[in-house]
Amino acid sequence: MTPDVVYLDHNATSPVRPEVLEAMLPFLKDDFANPNSAYALGQRTRAAVEAARAHVARLLNASGPDEIVFTSCGSESDVLAVVGAARQALRASRGKKNHVVCSAIEHDAVRLAVRGLEADGFEATTVPVDEYGRVEAQALCRALRPSTAIVSIMHANNEIGTLEPIREFSQICRERDIGFHTDAVQSVGKVPVDVQSLGVDLLSLSGHKINAPKGVGALFIRRGVRLSPVITGHQEKNRRGGTENVAGIVGLGRACRLALEEVSHGAELLRLRRRIEEGCLRIAEARVNGHPTERLPSTCHVSFRGIDGAALVVALDLEGICVSSGPACSTGVSEPSHVLRATGLDPVWARGGIRVSLGWGSRDSDVDRFLGALPHAVEKIRQAQRLPSSVL
Ligand code: PLP
Repeated sequence: MTPDVVYLDHNATSPVRPEVLEAMLPFLKDDFANPNSAYALGQRTRAAVEAARAHVARLLNASGPDEIVFTSCGSESDVLAVVGAARQALRASRGKKNHVVCSAIEHDAVRLAVRGLEADGFEATTVPVDEYGRVEAQALCRALRPSTAIVSIMHANNEIGTLEPIREFSQICRERDIGFHTDAVQSVGKVPVDVQSLGVDLLSLSGHKINAPKGVGALFIRRGVRLSPVITGHQEKNRRGGTENVAGIVGLGRACRLALEEVSHGAELLRLRRRIEEGCLRIAEARVNGHPTERLPSTCHVSFRGIDGAALVVALDLEGICVSSGPACSTGVSEPSHVLRATGLDPVWARGGIRVSLGWGSRDSDVDRFLGALPHAVEKIRQAQRLPSSVL
């Protein structure tokens, strides 16, 4: 990473680990063959893809590598799960299963996939969340219908880090013979993600959130669950067309192996996160958002009352510190994200929110630099906002 830069935005993307890069390099050089080719060179790349598949399956505690399909990213995994399951259920039920459900805090990959299904004639229900961003089981039950084809509720939210009680939701759906998908893009590698104990039919993950490169993802598809492919073709046992991104897949496999070997990493992230939160709360009119306990150890979303979170991101960037705020709207004024709106957070707090996210390589010195720069940055913005508008 660039020296002197403090990178605290691992939920946006994470650096490729040296071990991952090293594993990938042969497949960007001499081992370039198409893994679908019959000759020996092709069989070498095929073997590497299958070894990676086994690593992903092991990390998720899948029943076998056959339950893993490689994709181009977390977004594609989400779309394949939601759209693929909805279309398959509609066809198999001869048009009866035409309803889909997702939560109010899903990533756009899921939200827009659901919107696309609506444009195609499906009906959709969005399940609300509480002030911490948690879906309540009763609210989910109320949303379900005999015509529900698929439910998608994320495992961990990318902005506020709240973890959802996925096992409870998957059981509710299973009892009603409804497919259940979870977007685990942010939770894989940070907390244990076990498809058996979660009881999910479909689970998405993404390479670049776990120190593998961008441009590779995977979807867990439980044995017996059928999807209508979104990208048609014969690869991945007809479930996802396109010549495999061998180097990316090998990188993802290596990253999954490292995640499995380093299970204690979460405890260290939690220690650093607590330091960040304690430091932030020493500043006047600050609050931590998301669930107090059921939250990713790596994710801290804090608000400073009355300030503009985007301005704070810029002020910290000038100090060489990378964090993020909610998406800015086209007028240039920060508007609270759909996630914060769904939690009902007062806009005066929501606009002043920043997300600080930790990951591999995060250390105490990063936290020191951040906490050293933060009070001054917040104060500077507060002072500027106090000035009369004529001098701004
Ligand atoms: N789902 C969640 C929760 C995410 O945070 C992201 C990326 O930020 C995605 C899906 C999309 O992943 P990708 O960038 O690999 O398409």
